[in-house]
Amino acid sequence: MDTSAPPAENTGATDIEKIRCLIIGSGPAGCTAAIYASRANLAPVLYEGLQPGGQLTTTTEVENFPGYPEGATGPDIMEQLKKQAIRFGADFRWGEATEADLSSRPFRITIDNSKIILADTLIISTGASAKYLGLEDEKKYAGGGVSACATCDGFFFRGRDVAVVGGGDTAAEEALYLSNFCRKVYLIVRRHQLRASQVMQDRVIKSQKIEVLWEHQTKGLFGDKVVEGAVLWHKKGTPEETEVTIKIDGFFLAIGHRPNSEIFKKYIDTDEVGYIKTVHGTPKTNIAGVFACGDVQDKVYRQAITAAGTGCMAAIEAERFLAEQEG
Ligand code: NDP
Repeated sequence: MDTSAPPAENTGATDIEKIRCLIIGSGPAGCTAAIYASRANLAPVLYEGLQPGGQLTTTTEVENFPGYPEGATGPDIMEQLKKQAIRFGADFRWGEATEADLSSRPFRITIDNSKIILADTLIISTGASAKYLGLEDEKKYAGGGVSACATCDGFFFRGRDVAVVGGGDTAAEEALYLSNFCRKVYLIVRRHQLRASQVMQDRVIKSQKIEVLWEHQTKGLFGDKVVEGAVLWHKKGTPEETEVTIKIDGFFLAIGHRPNSEIFKKYIDTDEVGYIKTVHGTPKTNIAGVFACGDVQDKVYRQAITAAGTGCMAAIEAERFLAEQEG
């Protein structure tokens, strides 16, 4: 493979730049990778993507990120992580990776359909996006009772009634988590059965606090400023269709996530959903020199702290890889 790419040339129509370590994505994984890579003198360049700071910036209070005994807001934590990386020289830039050619090294990444980055190593930390139902009310009550992360926001609803939408393992897990401290948890399931694994189904059914609303779909939410309830359809589209109203303070979406791996899929192995496959216990992908960290490769834990951990691992592996290549 050609690792002797030309030096930086940032001018003119071509706008090609050669760098040692490119990080795509600015959530906890990307920022942590940037801290480690910059301290290792890899002069990392990080493109922040469409949602600078990642999913954490969509939550309000974060109480479970170590080092913040009083809690902090998601945007604050991300700002701190970014500052820490910049302190050691990481180069944060606006822009989205729109194309990737990983067929040879240096890897060729297109930013905003125009600029070309040639990177000796690539750290993919593009995260995952929670799926929403597509209701106007989800936007209206964002930060006012609607959330796609029970682990992040559930605790604010202790002693209250909440609903979780979905029938997979995530929905079951989140409903069970919420049942630890909420008064009542409705699980809104669109079919007459759960998709979750049997063990999770059994736990949900056994729970005294969870009421499964089979064959229900959400029509809308209501409330003055914050969520106070939801209107559901029961057996929508059948002759028995009825409307049901439930009183809730929190409305949690758990209908799946979409890993942001689309532009890499031609080269990088992913599972059937699109999560990047890594060598067990490492951030290594099927391509030497390309590493994946954070939610784009994690469908199980999906926490800011686990993302940060894998970001650290990716940077360490990038450093080792470059050391081997550069002799
Ligand atoms: P899944 O795709 O497994 O399940 C999504 C659920 O949401 C399904 O029940 C689906 O309904 C429902 N759903 C989808 N769209 C809508 C909609 N528009 N309206 C109402 N309901 C909808 O996603 P998960 O996030 O639950 O899991 C993803 C993967 O991660 C799975 O492989 C899962 O096993 C794994 N996982 C593993 C965990 C663990 O091992 N601890 C924890 C969490 C996840 P329907 O069933 O009708 O399609």
